[in-house]
Amino acid sequence: MKTVQQHLDDVLSAIHPLSAIDLQLPETHTCVLAEDVYAPAPLPAFDNSAMDGYAVRAADIATASEDRPVELAVVGDVMAGSWQPQGVSAGSCLRIMTGAAMPAGADAVVPAEWTDGGIASVRVSRAAPEGNYIRRVGEDVPAGEVVARRGGTVHAAQLALLAAVGRNHALVHPQPRVVVLSTGDEVVEPGEPPRPGQIYDANGYALTAAVTEAGGHAYRAGIAPDDSDRLVAILDDHLIRADLVITSGGVSVGERDVVKMALSKLGTVRFERVAMQPGMPQGFGAIGPNATPIFCLPGNPVSALVSFEVFVRPAIRRMAGYAEVDRPMIRARLLESLTAPANKRQYRRARLDVQDDQYVVAPYGGTGSNLLAGLAGANALIVVDEETTSLPEGSSVDVVVLRRDEC
Ligand code: AMP
Ligand code: MG
Repeated sequence: MKTVQQHLDDVLSAIHPLSAIDLQLPETHTCVLAEDVYAPAPLPAFDNSAMDGYAVRAADIATASEDRPVELAVVGDVMAGSWQPQGVSAGSCLRIMTGAAMPAGADAVVPAEWTDGGIASVRVSRAAPEGNYIRRVGEDVPAGEVVARRGGTVHAAQLALLAAVGRNHALVHPQPRVVVLSTGDEVVEPGEPPRPGQIYDANGYALTAAVTEAGGHAYRAGIAPDDSDRLVAILDDHLIRADLVITSGGVSVGERDVVKMALSKLGTVRFERVAMQPGMPQGFGAIGPNATPIFCLPGNPVSALVSFEVFVRPAIRRMAGYAEVDRPMIRARLLESLTAPANKRQYRRARLDVQDDQYVVAPYGGTGSNLLAGLAGANALIVVDEETTSLPEGSSVDVVVLRRDEC
């Protein structure tokens, strides 16, 4: 049997980042940048007011106080977006709004709260230093500075910055398009009443969502019957839209394990036993004219999802251009003893928690690879290595954090 590490190494050596493409800004969201983006101009591009108030000459109001306000003539308004040729001369001021360009001659902004709010003239009851409430040109980003680095992910704040410096496109690794196909004559769509012996397609929904959470662009291709020709035809149809294909089911040694039977013949997909629990049978390889990578995951829902975590998620992240493809792994104190099979790496459904500023973890639910409720209630996986068959309460264990915000 192959180790998890060997299989993961084989997978990752066959998977490469997708070629970078220039996308319009909205489409770059959650993508990994393939270029350093520079600010073509300073941000902000001009000195502007940080407050609603009055643009003044600081010297004019140097003596202003509550008891002895200074009165200035208000010679006009400057709105955000308006470009006033009008300047401020001694004894006068302009009413100014937040974000409006500083008028010539003015060197400070007096917020409306420091005045009587006058319209034709205004009484200022507090002195202001030069530069008061002025946002200076380039104080956020000087011209020519890198605003977003190659390898970084474009989230909301990065999009804001790219847009703010005027970029409406960026060179990124596109999200891999991942086609998810369930297999099995017994598998039907939830919502339809099942006939005896039928089960609902849990894997198709789970894997599609997991692809999205991993940063891929998922397409759920439905359910293929246990028929080699049909399976191959369905895969063929979907290859056009796929950078990666995931199937579930049909990879064990059963009579109807058609994924294995059909794809083994192609010679480009290998079906192997990987020393792990859950998820022992694994298929991986390439199909079609473009040698599209394909994962053939086991059918039991927990096996399918854990296999996704261990092998497919890193592959999707590699394709999406991430340098770091692994989930964060932490150490936690085990709250209950546990046992694990020899010579296999066990991924044990678990609840991770914080107690007294320390991570603590307890196994959650059974170990059966069909037991979905335990996985749905878990927020982490305890990783028990191949050599370990039992761990006493209080041990320090490796934990893959699935949902940190649920700790
Ligand atoms: P298989 O490897 O196809 O024999 O499937 C192993 C087990 O997983 C069987 O009990 C299947 O019924 C079940 N299974 C296969 N595909 C799915 C699916 N898409 N959703 C839920 N269970 C499935
Ligand atoms: Mg099956």
